[in-house]
Amino acid sequence: MNKAVLHDHLDGGLRANTAKDLAIKDNYKPLLEVEDIETFFNRESSESLEDYLEAFVHTTALMTKYENLERIAFEAAEDMHQHGITHYESRYAPLYSVNDSMTPENVIDAINSGFKQAENIYGIKSGLILCGMRNDIQNVKLVSEIAIEFKDKIIGFDIAGPELNYLPSLFANEFKKLQENNVNLTIHAGEGDGVNSIQDALDNGAKRIGHGVRIIEDIDLKTGKFGSTATYILENQIPLEICITSNIHTNMFNDFTDHPIKKLIDFNFAISLNTDNRLMSNTNIKKESSIAKNLNIENVDNLLEVSASYSFLNNY
Ligand SMILES: [Zn+2]
Repeated sequence: MNKAVLHDHLDGGLRANTAKDLAIKDNYKPLLEVEDIETFFNRESSESLEDYLEAFVHTTALMTKYENLERIAFEAAEDMHQHGITHYESRYAPLYSVNDSMTPENVIDAINSGFKQAENIYGIKSGLILCGMRNDIQNVKLVSEIAIEFKDKIIGFDIAGPELNYLPSLFANEFKKLQENNVNLTIHAGEGDGVNSIQDALDNGAKRIGHGVRIIEDIDLKTGKFGSTATYILENQIPLEICITSNIHTNMFNDFTDHPIKKLIDFNFAISLNTDNRLMSNTNIKKESSIAKNLNIENVDNLLEVSASYSFLNNY
């Protein structure tokens, strides 16, 4: 059976050892002084989102060369394969890697080349979703243009970054053009902001919702009555890309037992299980699966199998 991970950030999933190697190779000083690189990147007990996000400054700094991106993409797909995944969707904000010697196309080609090498060895299929950074209007504009220009080399488009105050409809024109060009849309929503943000993502053409976990706020748990957004998501089986550990680390929920994934499954939502940022959250899909098991979800493998049916890779 095919098994997929649909929500995993390339810059959040470097192997700690690879980060160390690349820092030495490129003489990236902030990491050269770090003794235990794994602990340095592990933001499990972050006090704030800022502290969690600070780690990305260092991973993206190592992603400005073709061969680095190629290696990071290969290893991400290899790691997914080692954990039983056959379809891997990776996402990345390409402008972090664009510089005088790297065009947006070079960035996409480098990542795809790494994915291809992994496919040749292991058979795992991987595809790239481009992310615009929603707190930077120009960034989203540019990345949406890149996504359209190179739509045959990618599998989708997303907006990442701080959700609150940056509703998808700020980029309504971009989303409209992306849809006209048949670029698949998944949008981070219902994590840092609530149900209104999920509705706004749907209104702008999202076929899947990144996280979407706060859809639970549109359901009256006492009466079982659904609001209009929850009704729509359920009836249309819009997949929610759930990332349990990440939600705990960004302090959305205090504890695993507070996480609503089990409730959402019991309500029959289309749920996929994902990793988000493996390096910063010290996780992988095996760990997420055992967390799900501990939350009394019976058939965890089935979650990964249905995820494969939601994959944008199926369109290629
Ligand atoms: Zn994410």
